[in-house]
Parts: sequence; C-alpha cells; structure tokens
Amino acid sequence: MIMEEKIVNTIIIGGGAAGLTAGMYLARAKSSVVILDSGTIGGQLVLTHEVANYPGIVSTSGYQLATTMRQQAKSFGCEIKSNITLSELNLEGESKTVVVNNNILYKAKSLIIATGGRSRMLNVPGEARLKGKGVSYCATCDGDFFQDKEIFVVGGGNSSLEEAVSLTKYASKVTIIHQFDHFQAFEHAIEEAKKNPKINIILQSKITEFLGDEKLEAIRYQNLETGEEFHQPIDGVFIFIGYEANTDMFHGSSLTLNQGKEVVADELMKTNLPGIFVAGDNRAKRFRQITTAVADGTIAALSTLEYLTQ
Ligand SMILES: Cc1cc2nc3c(=O)[nH]c(=O)nc-3n(C[C@H](O)[C@H](O)[C@H](O)COP(=O)(O)OP(=O)(O)OC[C@H]3O[C@@H](n4cnc5c(N)ncnc54)[C@H](O)[C@@H]3O)c2cc1C
Repeated sequence: MIMEEKIVNTIIIGGGAAGLTAGMYLARAKSSVVILDSGTIGGQLVLTHEVANYPGIVSTSGYQLATTMRQQAKSFGCEIKSNITLSELNLEGESKTVVVNNNILYKAKSLIIATGGRSRMLNVPGEARLKGKGVSYCATCDGDFFQDKEIFVVGGGNSSLEEAVSLTKYASKVTIIHQFDHFQAFEHAIEEAKKNPKINIILQSKITEFLGDEKLEAIRYQNLETGEEFHQPIDGVFIFIGYEANTDMFHGSSLTLNQGKEVVADELMKTNLPGIFVAGDNRAKRFRQITTAVADGTIAALSTLEYLTQ
C-alpha cells in the first residue's frame, strides 16, 4: 500500500560509478534527484580490491573510491537509498514513476538507468569468495597485478583469446583453458594466441574449484574427455565467458535493448523514450571501465538538465 508520494526532477536507478556521478552533477546543479539502488551503493567498485587506473588517484581501494563518490554526491544534496526493492516501474509519459519498498511512490520528469552489469561467472566453488583476490574478470583492470606471474585464462571466444594475448605483457605464462575441442573466436585471434610463446592451451577441460583463503593459491581442473583431475598452483585466473547487463527489469518494456539486452542510446545517453537516459555498464558499448561509467554519468546528467529545461 502506498503510504507516501515523493516528487523529484530525476530518479536514478543504480548507485554505481555512473549513477553516483550523474547524481552529483544533478544535485550540484540544484536539481532534485534520488538514487535508488537494490544493492550496495558503489556497485562493482566495491568488488574491486585495488583501483590503479583512475586518473588523479595513484592507487585506492574500490570501496574507498565508492565511499568518496557517495559522500560527494550527498554533500550536494543528492538523496541516496540502498538495499531497496523497486516495483511498478513506469518509463512512459510525462511523469516517470517507481514504487520503493512497496510503500513509497517516486514521481519524476526524467529517469536515468544506471544499473550496471556483471561478468558471467563459472559458478564453481571458491569463485565468489576469491573474486578480486586472484580471480578476475577484467584484464585492463587487473593485468598489471600479475607481473611475472603465472595465470590461467578461461574461455574460447574472441575476448578470451585477445585478453590472453594482452595479459602476456605482464604474466610470465598464460594458460588458456577451454571446455570444447576448438575455439569460437575469429581465425586471426586464434593464430595470434597460438603463435605467442608465453601462451599454453588446454582444451576440453574446465576449472572445477578455486582454492585459497585470503587469495587464490591453486585451482582444480578436469579433462572432460578422460575425466582426469588436476591440482594446479596458480597466481591468477581471468574469466572471459561473457557479460550480462543488469536490465532484467526492462525486458518486455518499450525501452530499446540490443540483442545482448543492453540499453541502446545515442552519444548524449538518450534512449528511445523521452526523458529516459542511460549511463554505465548497462549501456550498449564496447569498453566498460570506471572512467567510461563516470563519463556516461556526466553526459546523462547534462542531457537530463537540458531535457528538464526544454
Ligand atoms: C572485480 C572487478 C574489478 C574491476 N576493476 C576495475 C579497475 O581496476 N578499473 C576500472 O576502470 N574498472 C574496473 N572494473 C570495471 C568497473 O568497476 C565498472 O566498469 C564500473 O564500476 C561500472 O559502473 P556502473 O555504475 O556502470 O555499474 P555498477 O558498478 O554495476 O553499478 C550498478 C548499480 O546498480 C544497482 N542495480 C542493479 N540492478 C538494479 C535494479 N534492478 N534496481 C536498482 N539498482 C540496481 C547495483 O546494485 C549497482 O550498485 C572492475 C570490475 C570488476 C567486477
């Protein structure tokens, strides 16, 4: 039952780097804004052990960066709500609405979708626990931490093979492990990987367990043809088996998504629906980094301000 009705200029769904940046820009422009997040504020940032590629900050923890972004947005007057449930979302018409925790109805003239995304996981024991502690889903983010170390790369598509090659800049040995007897990548990507002297390939095999307490120490993997099991001490494992945008709540709505269920927008972050903007990893785009999420958030906020004054 709706107990309360709140009216703001902009609702932001998702409080990761993109949403927090958009919230900061809007609040600083003295436009009323609320960030609604179904999880923890900071999103993927809080999963990131060390961030070493955010300009102006030599090294920080993802948690610290998220905390600072949150404080900065709040200091300008951005309302932030975490761990809430959203329902009855309406993206069409003059007034966009959403119900929070089944009892607060938020109404706004504009809405920014900043729900981010998640790398597809292998879903084997130890993976979730050691995520960010030796198990990684981002070569650009974490490759540098594995200088002269031995690593595994999981997957047989283009991104897996290309990232495996890029990781040879750092690692002393990169072993690609893939469940099938062939790769699904383009021929040139396969050739590049095969001719690299630092790359070793294990086919028809899969990781069955990640081992280690504070950080990854070893993996268990199995040859799917023979059933034979192996224990392999290892410093890092990079998993590239796909990416999923957090857009489940928009499936079946009038919002345009691409085949990968990512939100389609123009360079001003405008979606197909008037007053609805998108920012961050849930947007159809090639590169997903903190800096690109922050850039999207900035553009989405400035486009929103323009929309509100029209
Ligand atoms: C382990 C790891 C390490 C990384 N390291 C780096 C790095 O070193 N450098 C770098 O540049 N990038 C790094 N990245 C990538 C970077 O973190 C992301 O590109 C960036 O943080 C994305 O920000 P975002 O705001 O778009 O999305 P997210 O961070 O995914 O935030 C989305 C937010 O939306 C919320 N949400 C989702 N669905 C809903 C819903 N239905 N309703 C309400 N709220 C919802 C989530 O709870 C979340 O808080 C790393 C990523 C990971 C996973």
